[in-house]
Amino acid sequence: MSFAQLPLSPRLQQTLSELGYATPTPIQARAIPLILAGRDLLAGAQTGTGKTAAFVLPLLETLLQSKVDAAVRPIRALVLVPTRELAVQVYESVERYGKGTGLSCTLVYGGVSIAAQVEALQQGVDILIATPGRLLDHLRQGALTLSALRHLVFDEADRMLDMGFMDEIKALLKQIPSERQTLLFSATCDDNLFALSKVLLQSPELIEVAPRNTTASEVEQRVYAVDSERKVALVQHLLSIKGWAPALVFSRTRQGADKLAEQLSKSGINALAFHGDLSQGAREKVLQEFRAGTLQALVATDVAARGLDISELNYVINLEFPHQPEDYVHRIGRTGRAGNKGLAITLFSPEDAPLLAKVEAVLDTRLPQQWFPGFEPDLTRSEPTSRRNSKGAQKQRARRQALGNQSGKAKR
Ligand code: AMP
Repeated sequence: MSFAQLPLSPRLQQTLSELGYATPTPIQARAIPLILAGRDLLAGAQTGTGKTAAFVLPLLETLLQSKVDAAVRPIRALVLVPTRELAVQVYESVERYGKGTGLSCTLVYGGVSIAAQVEALQQGVDILIATPGRLLDHLRQGALTLSALRHLVFDEADRMLDMGFMDEIKALLKQIPSERQTLLFSATCDDNLFALSKVLLQSPELIEVAPRNTTASEVEQRVYAVDSERKVALVQHLLSIKGWAPALVFSRTRQGADKLAEQLSKSGINALAFHGDLSQGAREKVLQEFRAGTLQALVATDVAARGLDISELNYVINLEFPHQPEDYVHRIGRTGRAGNKGLAITLFSPEDAPLLAKVEAVLDTRLPQQWFPGFEPDLTRSEPTSRRNSKGAQKQRARRQALGNQSGKAKR
């Protein structure tokens, strides 16, 4: 299929060919006609699948088709996102794909001055991109109304729920007309998301481009077994000697990210931490450096890394497995994007055995451990001996737990 076969205006077609987009990605091929037909949608798609253009293109097309009084310009489409970074990324996509359409887009998110955002809103907005909390602030102040809204998009809805935005979402829905089109995009689907979809969507079409909780096939996953106290040295080796950089390095905690970035810097590696404790300005500066290619490593936490739009990322390094197996899927989905092959490395020490088992259960695949020459684990150490805490027992428990959680999940 080519984009020419999709009913998009010559203006959008021209932009797509200028961008060098020849073929719609699978999610685009399926979602664009349905969205243009006005259907509600529940779409399971990870970052990197082209999901942003899958909703931005048909929204632009629909807004172009439905004329409004240019003097009034009420908000007709709202994209809700969990994080500031994703807000900026979606905004950039709308600007890119909407070039020359005359449609205007504004974004509002927390952590920066509200006044400049109010001013932008007063200019008239066709598409608003917002994080839930800040949008509510604007509504409370009377800076905007959503009474003319026709299209509501949730991007990374699963993360929005993980971050506890349910109350904000409920409050927002009270101010949004019930006659509207609603599109729900999510990388994963659990009971909470399914419950939300029931409240939000009317006779939705279900789309899933990659089977749920599976990883993009272009990503090679390697698990290196290493003693915990040698992990930092191995990360240094991978970045500087192997030259596996620039890399997005994941740490489970903010403190851990700071510490690792500092340790890497001390060994001469250009590394910076990226997490929620940094000010918005500092985060943007770090990102700019990473995008410009001057950093060898961006050491991020899971929440901060969501929504990062970094193209050409070849390496993801996990200092340890995350507590939530879904976060592993998100982490490694940062590489191998839009057809690039990626390498995702996880450093593994015996205490993380239950977490590895959970990830294996969710992916339904084995992640064999290997040794990195020069960093082989010390096998002379004693292993946990009690039966209950043996490696096998821990693994089985984790697998049962993960599969048990899954079996309660809604089928899509
Ligand atoms: P997303 O999943 O929305 O984060 O998009 C991932 C990347 O794929 C972005 O950098 C897009 O610019 C790029 N992209 C999206 N659609 C296409 C397409 N049809 N052809 C080539 N690249 C695309």
